[in-house]
Amino acid sequence: MTENKPEQVAKDLAVTIDYKLTIDGEIIDSSEEDGPLDYLHGHENIIPGLERELTGMKIGEQKNVTVAPEDGYGTVDEEAMLEVPRSEFPNEVPLEIGIELEVTDQEGDMLFATIVEVGNKTVKLDTNHPLAGKALNFDVTVVDLREASEEEIAHGHVHTGHHHH
Ligand code: ZN
Repeated sequence: MTENKPEQVAKDLAVTIDYKLTIDGEIIDSSEEDGPLDYLHGHENIIPGLERELTGMKIGEQKNVTVAPEDGYGTVDEEAMLEVPRSEFPNEVPLEIGIELEVTDQEGDMLFATIVEVGNKTVKLDTNHPLAGKALNFDVTVVDLREASEEEIAHGHVHTGHHHH
């Protein structure tokens, strides 16, 4: 069997990218700090709007991608604002606007929340993603491509780099 190195980003390939994420002109995240990102293409390991644009890119190719909020971290949802009685907060949590918390919802899912209002009896939490409602600007370069293993495809993620499980 010959090794056929894939030439273009496609489903079930392990893709290595360099990227820089800019929001409103501010650099939010960059592979310069954390090193290139390895991910499994076609498995929603990364933001859908970015994954779609990466399809078909070749090694060494660079692209600037703007991702609308609905293809990124979602739009701001008013229903994601929760009114919680003060008594439900542990004493060590300072009840101040801007404090970020992790809370568990009725289904037992972990949510990130930010305190947006502090009342006498209740505290209002915003559980929208901090980047909800934001257009995301990515500078992305395809660094490497390889066939993913059957195990990686079965797991839906790569077993290299930062995404080792
Ligand atoms: Zn795994």
